[in-house]
Amino acid sequence: MSNSADAGVVDAVVVGAGFAGLYALHKLRSQGLVVRVFEAAPEVGGTWYFNRYPGARCDVESVDYSYSFSDELEQEWTWTEKYATQGEILRYINWVADKLDLRPGITFDTRVVSATLDEKTLRWTVVTDAGETVTARFVIMATGPLSAALTPAFPGLDTFAGEVYHTAHWPHEPVDFSSKRVAVIGTGSSGIQSIPLIAEQAEQLYVFQRTPNYSVPAGNRTLTESDVAEVKSNYAERRAMSWRSGGGSPHVAHPKLTMEATAEERRAAFERRWELGGVLFSKTFSDQMIDPVANDEARRFYEEKVRAVIDDPEVADLLIPNDHPIGTKRICTDTNYFQTFNRPNVRLISVRRTPIESIDATGITTSDAHYDIDALVLATGFDAMTGALAKIDIVGRGGQGLREDWAEGPRTYLGLGVDGFPNLFLVSGPGAPAVLANMVLHAEAHVNWIADAITHLDSHGHTALEATAESVDNWIAECNRRAEATLFPRANSWYMGANVPGKPRVFMLFIGGFGVYLDICAEVAAAGYKGFQILDAS
Ligand code: FAD
Ligand code: NAP
Repeated sequence: MSNSADAGVVDAVVVGAGFAGLYALHKLRSQGLVVRVFEAAPEVGGTWYFNRYPGARCDVESVDYSYSFSDELEQEWTWTEKYATQGEILRYINWVADKLDLRPGITFDTRVVSATLDEKTLRWTVVTDAGETVTARFVIMATGPLSAALTPAFPGLDTFAGEVYHTAHWPHEPVDFSSKRVAVIGTGSSGIQSIPLIAEQAEQLYVFQRTPNYSVPAGNRTLTESDVAEVKSNYAERRAMSWRSGGGSPHVAHPKLTMEATAEERRAAFERRWELGGVLFSKTFSDQMIDPVANDEARRFYEEKVRAVIDDPEVADLLIPNDHPIGTKRICTDTNYFQTFNRPNVRLISVRRTPIESIDATGITTSDAHYDIDALVLATGFDAMTGALAKIDIVGRGGQGLREDWAEGPRTYLGLGVDGFPNLFLVSGPGAPAVLANMVLHAEAHVNWIADAITHLDSHGHTALEATAESVDNWIAECNRRAEATLFPRANSWYMGANVPGKPRVFMLFIGGFGVYLDICAEVAAAGYKGFQILDAS
C-alpha cells in the first residue's frame, strides 16, 4: 500500500464529491488508503449542489435518504420535513463533510478529463483540466447517474435574448420571475416540482409538454418531534428493512397480488398509498410493474384522482399519460402540480400536437403559434447513467476507450466493473439498480463492496480485479432478461436512453430489486470475486 506524501501518486482517485464520492473518500481513507477526490464543482454535494430550482426536494423520505453507516450521524442530524428541500440536503452533506473532515481530500473546481491504464503496472494515470496528472492503483467513478444535464438542440436557442435557466444548473442567487412571461420546457420530475412555484410568481407561464407524466402528490409535511424520536429510536430496524427491500426504503407492498385482492381491498390499498403520497404508489401491490392488468388497475385509480383536480377536461386529457404503463418512468411527486393548470396565468402546450420549431430573440415558435417570453426554463433532464462517464477519456487494455466499448450500450458486471478496465470501479453505474433504489444506501453498498474488494486484494498480495468479458455478457443478459419480464421496456424512458437522440435503446438498470442485487454482490465476493480475474502487476 502506498503511503506516499506525493499527491501525484496515490492509492485511489475518486471522481465526484456527491453522496457517493464523499462516502468513498471516508471509507477508503479509514482503511488507510491515500485518496484524492476531484470534483468539477466548487463545493461538495453533487446533485444537491447543482439542482437548486424552485421546489427541488428528494422523493425518498429524508430519514431514509441519508447516510446509514454512522449511528452518530443518524442520531445527531434532525430532518425537518418528510421530503427535505435541496437546501436542507445540501446543508446535511456539508455538515457530514465537515464532521468527517473530508474537504482536505478534495480538489474542487477540477474536472477529470482522462484516465489511462498502464497494462504493465496496472496503474491508472488520471489527468485533470487543470493539467494535473495523478497515478493511482484504483479509480472510482462516483460521477453520478444524473449529473450530465441535457439541453436539446432547439434551433435558435442561442439567439434568445431573455434569461435561460436549466433546472440542473440553477443560479445560486434567487431568480425572480414576477412580472415575467416564462416558458418551462419539460414535465419530468424537475419540471413538475418547479412549475407550481414558478406559476405563483410569473405573470404568465407557458408549459411545453412533450410526454405527460404520472405524478402523485408528495404528501410532504413537517416532521414533528415525535416523528423524529420514533425514527431515531428505530433506525437500525428501519435500515434493515431498507437493505432487504426492492427499492432501498422500508416499504412493504400489500400482501396480496392486485387481482387477488377484492375490489374493496384494492381500492383501500390504493387510497392509503395515495394518502401517504409519493413514488411508492407504483409499489402498492408487488405485481404492478409486471402484470399489465394490475398496472391498469393502478392507472385507472390514478386517472380518477387526477381528473378530479383539473377544471378543464381537455387540459386533463393532455395531462394524463396514455402511452406508457404507470411507473415505467419514474413517478414524479408534486405539490399542487395539476391544480396549477387551473390558474388563469398558466397555459399548457402539447409539443406532440404542435412541435417546437425554433426559438428566436423573443420566444418560442411552435407549428401553430409564437409565444413571447422573458425567461426560458429548461427542465429537459439528463444524459443519464452514461453521460458523465462518456465525457471522460477512459482508456483501458489495448488502448480501448470506454466510450467506444459502450457504443451499443453500457457493458458492466454488476454495475461495478468492466472487462478491459482493471481496478476501475463504478458507483451507481449502469447494470446496478442505481436510480431504481434509494441512492444514498446504494452508494454506500457499492463503496463498501469496492472497499472490501481492495482489502481482499491487499490481504492476498494481489494487484487488481478485472471483470471477465464472459461475466459482463452474462450480466447484461441477466439484466435484459429481468427487464423483459416487466413492463419497464414499454416506456420511452431515460432508463432506456430514449431521451437522448442517437443513444442506444437498452434498459440500463438491474431491475431485480435492491435486496436481491445486494445478495448477488455478496455471493460474488464470498466466492472469491467470482466473474472477476484477480491480477498481479508484471
Ligand atoms: P452526484 O450527486 O451526481 O455527484 C456526482 C459528482 O461528480 C458531481 O458533483 C459532478 O460535478 C462530479 N463529476 C462528474 N464528472 C466529473 C469529472 N469528470 N470530474 C470531476 N467531477 C466530476 N435519488 C434518490 O434516491 N432519491 C431522491 O429523492 C432523488 N432526488 C433527486 C432529485 C434531483 C433533482 C436529481 C437530479 C436527482 C435525484 N436523485 C434522487 C438521484 C441523485 O442523483 C442521487 O440520489 C444522488 O444524489 C447521486 O449521488 P452521486 O454522488 O452518485 O452523484
Ligand atoms: P426527465 O424526467 O428526463 O424530464 C425531462 C423532460 O423534458 C421530459 O418531459 C421530456 O419529455 C422533456 N424534453 C426533453 N427533451 C425535449 C425536447 N427536445 N422537446 C420537448 N421536451 C423535451 O428529467 P428530470 O425531470 O430532470 O428528472 C430526471 C430524473 O432525476 C428523475 O426521473 C428522477 O430520477 C430525478 N429527479 C428526482 C426528483 C425528485 O422528485 N426527487 C426531482 C428531479 C429529478 P419526454 O418525456 O418526451 O422525453
